[in-house]
Amino acid sequence: MELKKWHQMDVEELQHVMGVQSQQGLTEEEVEHKRTLSGWNELSEGKRISPIILFLNQFKDFMVVVLMGATLLSAILGEYLDAVTIIAIILLNGILGFVQEFRAERSLRALKNLSAPNAKVLRGGKVNIIPTRLLVPGDVVLLESGDRVPADVRWMETNSCSVEESALTGESLPVSKHCQVITEEDVQLGDQKNIGFMGTMMTRGTAKGIVIRIGMDTEMGKIADLIQSTEAQETPLQHRLEQLGKILIILSLALTILVVVAGILHGQPPMGMLLAGVSLAVAAIPEGLPAIVTVALALGVQRMIKRKAIVRKLPSVETLGCASVICSDKTGTLTQNKMTVTSIWVGGRSLEVTGDGYAPIGQILEKKQPIDLKNDQGLRRLLQIGALCNNSEIVEVTSDETRGKRKVKDDVKDTTWDLKGDPTEGALIALSSKMGMNSHSLGSLYQRELEFPFDSERKLMSVIVSHQGGRLIYTKGAPDVLLNQCSHILWGGNIVPLTGMMRQQVLTANESMASGALRVLGTAYRELRPQERVESEADAESQLVFVGLAGMIDPPRREVRDSIATCRRAGIKTVMITGDHGTTAEAIAHQLGILPRGGISLSGQELAKLNDDQLDAKVDQIYVYARVSPEHKLRIVKSLQRKGHVVAMTGDGVNDAPAIKAADIGIAMGITGTDVTKEASSLILSDDNFSTIVAAIEEGRNIYENIRKFIRYLLASNVGEILTMLFAMMLALPLPLLPIQILWVNLVTDGLPAMALGVDQPEKDLMEHKPRGAKENIFARRLGWKIISRGILIGLCTLAAFWLTLRVAPDQDGQLLKAQSVAFATLVMAQLFHVFDCRSSRSVFHRNPFQNKYLVLAVLSSVLLMLGVFYIEPLQPIFKTVPLGFREWAISLVAAGIPTFLMGAGSVWGGRKQRRNGSQRIIANSTKISA
Ligand code: ATP
Repeated sequence: MELKKWHQMDVEELQHVMGVQSQQGLTEEEVEHKRTLSGWNELSEGKRISPIILFLNQFKDFMVVVLMGATLLSAILGEYLDAVTIIAIILLNGILGFVQEFRAERSLRALKNLSAPNAKVLRGGKVNIIPTRLLVPGDVVLLESGDRVPADVRWMETNSCSVEESALTGESLPVSKHCQVITEEDVQLGDQKNIGFMGTMMTRGTAKGIVIRIGMDTEMGKIADLIQSTEAQETPLQHRLEQLGKILIILSLALTILVVVAGILHGQPPMGMLLAGVSLAVAAIPEGLPAIVTVALALGVQRMIKRKAIVRKLPSVETLGCASVICSDKTGTLTQNKMTVTSIWVGGRSLEVTGDGYAPIGQILEKKQPIDLKNDQGLRRLLQIGALCNNSEIVEVTSDETRGKRKVKDDVKDTTWDLKGDPTEGALIALSSKMGMNSHSLGSLYQRELEFPFDSERKLMSVIVSHQGGRLIYTKGAPDVLLNQCSHILWGGNIVPLTGMMRQQVLTANESMASGALRVLGTAYRELRPQERVESEADAESQLVFVGLAGMIDPPRREVRDSIATCRRAGIKTVMITGDHGTTAEAIAHQLGILPRGGISLSGQELAKLNDDQLDAKVDQIYVYARVSPEHKLRIVKSLQRKGHVVAMTGDGVNDAPAIKAADIGIAMGITGTDVTKEASSLILSDDNFSTIVAAIEEGRNIYENIRKFIRYLLASNVGEILTMLFAMMLALPLPLLPIQILWVNLVTDGLPAMALGVDQPEKDLMEHKPRGAKENIFARRLGWKIISRGILIGLCTLAAFWLTLRVAPDQDGQLLKAQSVAFATLVMAQLFHVFDCRSSRSVFHRNPFQNKYLVLAVLSSVLLMLGVFYIEPLQPIFKTVPLGFREWAISLVAAGIPTFLMGAGSVWGGRKQRRNGSQRIIANSTKISA
């Protein structure tokens, strides 16, 4: 018998062929067995650069090749020792570069894995969330709107399910899916409506299916080679630095040529001058800059992960530092998303609910007296709707634990109630179980036939259930929206027409709950006529009977208030955008300090009435947007951007994706977010917490400042090296530094200390000033001046130390060597002092030099390496050094300290004077006022 194709099989056949029960899923043993046959559910990766190639790449730099050529030349001329040492140094430099780049690549790959998608799978009768890589054919997967289809799947159950398949078929409109058999054998992909294809996106509804193909066997796998692009993400800063690097190469080369020409003109031997020139060019060209920038970015990103922020797009690390507005969801991001129903309104009566969390412990009270549910038809119906129009589950987790290591008398039994699903729905289940209504037994009495899932556009959810031969529609959702779909109301146990006065009563009750920061849900129902067909939400959600309201608390997250205050100090505005009711939103905004005096709260309806110009005119005053639909979010982002803001925007639902994409920093929720929003985002909050955004912004600012710090250090060092040589040649002095010494300085001072600056701690006032402009030049805020001024000073002081030593006995044999050693020591020490200066935007005296222990270690090891070159005898002939005496060290250290300490003292003095003038001005002003 010829085997049918997947789309031709019915669900029974499918289960049989795949050897799985749709209610149970596979067992772990079956999964293991299937995996040995089918492998992993992944598309084969594009080619990676091998470590050997990465290592060899370190030597393809033009100047390094020139240096090797020159070294070879000097070897031919008999300078073997020099040649070997230079080659060794080049190798060491290459190893350092390789380690930096390898680390950078590895951390970037690790990041990619972190944001790898998960799938909801039924195994051994339990629903688990696992990485999609672990799926095998036969797995039963559950999907909902916003999920990416994790493998090729034959649908078994679908509820209003649409899938966007453009990645595969090019069709950008979502296609609706079903689970019926398709009888024709040859059907185009686009028409295989009962199959879900890997990589396509579920835009609406829910579905359950059996995995039929995984990894490279899927339809996506077949075209994987076509779509695989390993596009490297380069941040704008990296791009600008690359361009800057090119300018610096030309500049260094020009200056080097000047040094060589001046040297030869003043009588230096051409060959020695050439080698010195090439060494100088190698040292002066900051070839390590891009790698250090990548390492700094990657390490910063690792720190962000520790603080629960996962960066998906590297460029956003830079943008984070510029963020001037954060638009945040309310539920779950600003609040804890731990809902408990505390108030009920039903048929004109207000009730109070006791008990905390999801435990079925508590009572419903009316005028402080427990309620008798048997005689309360309205309340019973409300609880039923809450429990049945619901997809969540509360499970009891019991853990027996024996306290302490010694044996204690009683074992301690802890029971916690774990929610699986949406907290809003969890609160309703907890509510009904407080009154002894078990949702499982209710579920067997009222069988669900159809569901119209909740979506934040409609703000409603409905189910059709059958009960004792009849059918009912149960609906819950935003009260103001739900009321519009109701024609009747359940009042005192009777169904009566919903009059204007009653409607007003419902709205007043809603308002009163909302003003206490409660999130309010309305409930309604309707009995279906025997033959009534319900094909769409619009059919179901009309002519309903309103039942009542349930108000739930959702406490603000404790740490958020402080984070919002931090944002305010850092010049960042926080805006709340929520689907919730305006009054609830405002109450919470007040509690958190979001809404300042004069700040506006706007509803989605009001927003819809404004055109773009009107919105732009107001947008800076608006702090709360309530009852908004996802489409409004896009307008808000665009308007803020038109006003020159750099916008960070959070989102979780599938419809939030366009706004998240449009925002400068799109932020998705790690826990509640859908795959679609995660993929559109540049940052994922693994704890869904607002405070994590602020932590990420802080890290973003710090990373940028650290990059500025080591650029300052490296460039000032290089300017110092070039100028030492240039000034000497201009003044017709002998060579102050020998080629090998230049290369050594470059190796020991540039590498480690610069890297340590990349992981420096932030300055205290990092979050006390406004965000930097998105277009700010990297050399802004006097960085360029600092590089040039310190570079010139380092050059001058090194030369001065050289000249002072040489002057003692200019014609004496060995004095030149001593002077060169002094210049060498001065240059190294000047750079090592200067590295501490680079940590502060003010001066070396403004920060504790021992705070960054990596830097202290790097500097100490550089000092030890330098001392080794001076005092280990076999190294002396290699580096042409001589041991220095007290006088030489004194000259060296004083000269080396001048650029950092003198300028630092100047800045402290300048600062004091400014403050004094400032306070004098204040005194003068106040005298003016009092006069
Ligand atoms: P935020 O956008 O800040 O996360 P939110 O979660 O309140 O806010 P939505 O999820 O769009 O926004 O909810 C909007 C309204 O829809 C809520 O105020 C509530 O009345 C109603 N609602 C929320 N969840 C459900 C649900 N599962 N079923 C029915 N109605 C719901």
